[in-house]
Amino acid sequence: MEVFGSSGARGVANEELTPEFVTGVAGAATSVWGADRVAVARDTRTTGEMFAGAATAGVTSAGADADRLGVVPTPAVQAYAEREGVPAVVLTASHNPPEYNGVKLVGGDGAEPDIETVERIEARLDGGDGDAAAWDAVGHERTVDGANDAYVEELLAGVDRERIAGAGLTVALDPGHGAGSLTSPEFLRRLGCAVRTVNATPDGRFPGRDPEPVAENLPELRRLVRATDADVGVAHDGDADRAVFVDETGAYVEGDATFAALAAAELGPGDTLVSAVNVSQRVVDVVESAGADLELTAIGSTNIMARIRELEAAGETVPVAGEGNGGVVFPRHRLARDGAYTAARLLELLAERPLSDVAADHGGYHNVRRNVPYESEAERDAVVAAAAERAREAESERDGEVEVTTTDGYRIDFGDGWVLARPSGTEPLVRVYAEARDADRAEELAAWMTGALRAAGD
Ligand code: MG
Repeated sequence: MEVFGSSGARGVANEELTPEFVTGVAGAATSVWGADRVAVARDTRTTGEMFAGAATAGVTSAGADADRLGVVPTPAVQAYAEREGVPAVVLTASHNPPEYNGVKLVGGDGAEPDIETVERIEARLDGGDGDAAAWDAVGHERTVDGANDAYVEELLAGVDRERIAGAGLTVALDPGHGAGSLTSPEFLRRLGCAVRTVNATPDGRFPGRDPEPVAENLPELRRLVRATDADVGVAHDGDADRAVFVDETGAYVEGDATFAALAAAELGPGDTLVSAVNVSQRVVDVVESAGADLELTAIGSTNIMARIRELEAAGETVPVAGEGNGGVVFPRHRLARDGAYTAARLLELLAERPLSDVAADHGGYHNVRRNVPYESEAERDAVVAAAAERAREAESERDGEVEVTTTDGYRIDFGDGWVLARPSGTEPLVRVYAEARDADRAEELAAWMTGALRAAGD
């Protein structure tokens, strides 16, 4: 049974995700890790305390001691895990709505466990092997204070403090009542920024906004930027492993544009950037002009992390990776997404130019998204086959000029734009994405793909 999807195991608390399940996962993970100590942490959700208790029961029942970290951003748990050399169970549903919760696992190196470890944990859950220690061998729990403080110190040591402080920036911050409320305000202040906040009290009901940091959820941050004449607005998701930005005029900056800007500052000739198959042309352009290589994985951070490991093991340098949703990875910092670190790296760029300027270097693209629904497995197969046929046609008609990627659906790059057809993992439809500098070209590419899929599905 696959328990962990591309972003961990998540569901509506006490309906889809139960304390019994969490206890089982924590026990199985503890056994597979062979750990004698496991950290347990959570984000601000109302069900977090309950699930952290359930995870602690699983860890101690399997014979390991539990370090209870309390409410901590996921990247701060990852910092703790690496520093202490202990794996961790994190109770978080990241950007999902308040009624959700989830389990995320962190290895003793601070990174997500590799796919093989995840499969062993899933197999152990399936096999019902039992992880229970004898009555006199169960673990103990202890409360550990200071994980957030240590994380902030680590962040401060890892970025260019002088450059950021010298810029005299005013930062508007919206941690969205999530775990970043406990760390990002202090971090930014200690970087020498004037910090103005909204939604910065930890609150698992998320009264100010939904945890997902997308444009429609950030009107308050945009107002705060304008009202305080801030240089930049920063927003996190519920566990603060992502950061998205608002420029000095109060305009939302596309995540693809900030990813491209961060990548441009980081990449050199011969480097490799890892992203998913829906990567923006903005990022493709940056990779090309840096003389770097692009590696595309299936969508989801687990896949991206796995590819970074493979490439690094093969001797490649991967200085930056991630997706256009604000989830950027700087593997030299850690094999993890980190919202506060990402924000600081962007602030470094703002020492020279306003964010609207930085983003304008990577603007001017048009994105189109379409859905093609299907009603049966047979219809789905026909629709996917039509996408494959489109890829073959494009390759044979424009020999050498198009590049087809079949990692997750069919992505066809034409040089001046691209189109991707990919079955949704959760709904009965095939998603079509297209992007080009020219709006008509983006529409044309989407229509060219969508037309074939619709015809095949009828
Ligand atoms: Mg997250």
